[in-house]
Amino acid sequence: MPRLLLAPAGYGKTEKIIQSIRQVLAEQPLAPVIAIVPNMIQAAGFRQRMAASGGTLGVEVHTFHTLYAELLTRAERPIPLLIDPVRIHLLHAIVDDLCQRGEIRHYAGLRNKPGFIAALRNTIEELKRTRILPNDFQSAILGSDVRLGEISQVYSAYQNWLQEQNWADNEGRGWLSAIALESNPTLGIDIRLLTVCGFDEFNPTQLSVLSLLANRAKETLITLTGDIQHPMRPAHHRFHRAQLALANSLHIQPEAMDSLSLLAPAIAQMEKTLFEPGIARNVPGEEAISPVTEDCRAPRNDPGSDIAGIEFLEAQNRPAEARAAMRWVKARIVRNGLALNDIAILVRTLEPYRPYLDEIAAEFGIPLRMVGGQPLEENPAVAALLLLLSLPAKDWPRQSLLEVWRSPYFDRSENAINASEAALLDEISRQGRVESGLSKWREAFELWEKSQVLTGEFGDGPAPKDHGGRVKHAFESFVDLLAPPTHTSTREYVAFVENLIGDDPALTKRPSLKGRGLNAVACARANPSTAERDVAALRAFKDVLRGLVLAESALGEETLSYTDFFADLRGAVEAATFSPPAQVGVMVSSVLDARGLSFQAVALMGLSEGEFPKLEREDILLRESDRVALRERGLPLETRLHGDEATLFYQAATRARQRLLLTRPYLAEDGQPWEASPFWEEIHRLNRNPAVGRVRPEDRLNPAEAASHVEWREATREFDVHMKNGVETLIARIKSIAGGKYEGEMFDLNERFGAAHTWSASRLESYGACPFEFFVAHVLELEPREEPEDGYDVRVLGSMLHKILEEFYSGGKALEVVAQEVFATAPQAYGFRPTPLWGLQQEELLKRLEETVGALAEVSRGYTPLALEAKFGMGAPPLVLKTEAGDVRLHGYIDRVDAAPDGSLRVIDYKSGGAVISAMHLKEGRRLQLPIYAQAAQEALGLGEVSGGFYWHILKAEASSLKLENFEGGIRAAFATAIGHIGRHVVGIRAGHFEPKPPTEGCPSYCPAVNFCWRYKKGF
Ligand code: SF4
Repeated sequence: MPRLLLAPAGYGKTEKIIQSIRQVLAEQPLAPVIAIVPNMIQAAGFRQRMAASGGTLGVEVHTFHTLYAELLTRAERPIPLLIDPVRIHLLHAIVDDLCQRGEIRHYAGLRNKPGFIAALRNTIEELKRTRILPNDFQSAILGSDVRLGEISQVYSAYQNWLQEQNWADNEGRGWLSAIALESNPTLGIDIRLLTVCGFDEFNPTQLSVLSLLANRAKETLITLTGDIQHPMRPAHHRFHRAQLALANSLHIQPEAMDSLSLLAPAIAQMEKTLFEPGIARNVPGEEAISPVTEDCRAPRNDPGSDIAGIEFLEAQNRPAEARAAMRWVKARIVRNGLALNDIAILVRTLEPYRPYLDEIAAEFGIPLRMVGGQPLEENPAVAALLLLLSLPAKDWPRQSLLEVWRSPYFDRSENAINASEAALLDEISRQGRVESGLSKWREAFELWEKSQVLTGEFGDGPAPKDHGGRVKHAFESFVDLLAPPTHTSTREYVAFVENLIGDDPALTKRPSLKGRGLNAVACARANPSTAERDVAALRAFKDVLRGLVLAESALGEETLSYTDFFADLRGAVEAATFSPPAQVGVMVSSVLDARGLSFQAVALMGLSEGEFPKLEREDILLRESDRVALRERGLPLETRLHGDEATLFYQAATRARQRLLLTRPYLAEDGQPWEASPFWEEIHRLNRNPAVGRVRPEDRLNPAEAASHVEWREATREFDVHMKNGVETLIARIKSIAGGKYEGEMFDLNERFGAAHTWSASRLESYGACPFEFFVAHVLELEPREEPEDGYDVRVLGSMLHKILEEFYSGGKALEVVAQEVFATAPQAYGFRPTPLWGLQQEELLKRLEETVGALAEVSRGYTPLALEAKFGMGAPPLVLKTEAGDVRLHGYIDRVDAAPDGSLRVIDYKSGGAVISAMHLKEGRRLQLPIYAQAAQEALGLGEVSGGFYWHILKAEASSLKLENFEGGIRAAFATAIGHIGRHVVGIRAGHFEPKPPTEGCPSYCPAVNFCWRYKKGF
């Protein structure tokens, strides 16, 4: 008769199973024993514990899936397993086929959306787990919503395919095992002891196989978390369901396991009282009433404390929380002498913490065992490979090609490509304005060759060496190497990809004769610090390739384009994970994967609102209302909203035997306070609200707590001069107002910008807008490196419009004729590649120019154009202004000067941009051009007295709101304001004051510092 033993968490249930196995084997050393555990992680843990207890040779440790395979083999009915990549492909093919035949309409739009096929797979898996056959499902949904009909069609087609091909998925193997057991009464009869432990739920197939086996094994022992005395404990909610399911299927009554808690007193007390009604429910302001005794209270929140128990720690954000948790882990290893395998870090959802834990563990020198694998596409070697393979599929995009040429994951020596070739390719592509496209790349090489010939003929220096020719040759040989076969089978494409990846030098004695490809594995092995991780990822990538070939042979070979093959490969990689080689280390896992395991010390992280308990969501394909309706029609579909989070938290918190650290971030990503999770509050109350450790950025770390060299240096402030400078720089940069030598206070520039220097209005305006922008653009003379784009940019637009207006007003030709002449030569003259919209853009620009000419004529009634593109300085007399910086010399071109009937002058400056220009901009010293030009017309060029002026917005066909004649105090006041600013700007520049000052409306995109400026402010 099978026995079901119940005991709360931490009472040694696994230990009991191991003792029972040892006892049986002591009497009959070769007796067949089978132990069933929920998953492979627990299987590994179980084997380890058995080995540690003296070894139990010959015991078969299974999950249900491996047990099904074993039973089918013993019954001589082995059946190939449909592995996941093939299953996903099969479902894709079925959905595509049904969509083409018009039998799927509701879900047709979702068929290529990420996650849809995986959701279908999960639904089918659930239907099979609950032993609902396609025909039963089809009958139950008759008359229901069309979307359920479409799911039913996919399920039937999937199941038919499996049966026709004689394949099975894991659930199908479960069904077949049950049938094999039913039809073969001797199967499993030899089992001396069958044990089951670590589960918190059982599905109908598992129960069916288990009840058949349990009745044949001589002895069956099942352990489950529970409490006979308190069967309805909220913390045991999920276990109670499992207990009822076992009792119904196996017809057994639970017994209390005779054992004591193995947990430290504080954790044991928490285990007993967690979520118990009436315990530690505080009324705000009252002393907590708790059964926790003094000796069970949490230790001080001091990593040096050696008292076992529960600690609480809050940190500002996830990275700080991960650092604090890892420091605690290191203290357990160093101070408490715990082995790496004795410690675990658990979180409800691993993803948000994975990168921080990885990075900080590396800094602290703590090896980790991450459970559940890492997303394959995030591995740098695989990401580089996908980028490489995307080149022919996406027609050679510039940025991707440059990254591939610079990637350390490829050996390009056969193509003679190194860093200098990559840099020159970058130059060539910028000059040729290549975004993508093989033909554009080739045009760019031709352009480059021509420009090099011209430089040689007319340049001052010697003709440049023919590096461009070398790069072109390297480019062409790289294109040849990456030329995929055309329209062929997946198998052929996979061979092409494998050839590119190249052999693993660790496995191949002699290099392949068939081309070396790019030696990706050898390159990955070249860096010892990442080699293990990257080689594991590349192996997983090859498994994905094999999965695609297997899927093709299973589904029938068809030809496809390389683009389609690449899309398939990308999708398969996105769905895949990989695990670096198993090693001894601190286990890091989601709470779900750690169920059933136990450790001496556990750090349970992420206990803030919304993280744990996690919000339960209904299934998107089989909604809760569907489930209710289908249950009424006899299908045993359970709700997805079980409310199991409390049980999961109970399981997580009781994984710790001696020490439990609970941590949480107290600020959300947007900087708002983040409330604690109710589970955190619950344990905190149960422990009589002990002090919570808080890690704040401003706190100095005690050097004794430093867990890495970096932390120790920071704590002791034992910095060398470079680090000292770095710290001072950071402190200066996080102050709200910029100032000081690390904030743009430079050096004396009196000589460079002395009295002989001639200024342009735009440079002075640049200083007025942001001194640091002036420094970067005009002192360092850095230019923004823009990505080449087809079509013209704002600067080209401004030049074209200025040119057209200048020629129209000066030449007597019709506007349309002038515009067409300028447009015809614009791509060559201004160096841009027209887009297909260029024709339409010309029409639109001409229309706007006609409007602007009309509107300008309106506001110029009575005025006569006197001068166009009038130059001052640069060979002509400069404007010299008397300012507080002394005489300041200025130069520039005045777009237009008109004479009024009374003989006074009006100055106009054209603007192609639409940004508003108001009197405020002049008052702030950011717009100085107009008053400078007005004074230049009057004083430097001697054209007469200026009485007004404005900026003219060409595309808006209107004047700016800033008009010199309307400035407060009149045009003289406008001149005085400008002179005041010019003097202050020049004094500031000469003294080297270049503090960043982001404009209130945000930093302009043309500022060359936008990509690195620490004060950058996004525009509205
Ligand atoms: S990014 Fe903004 S703050 Fe920085 S230099 Fe440019 S304009 Fe100034």
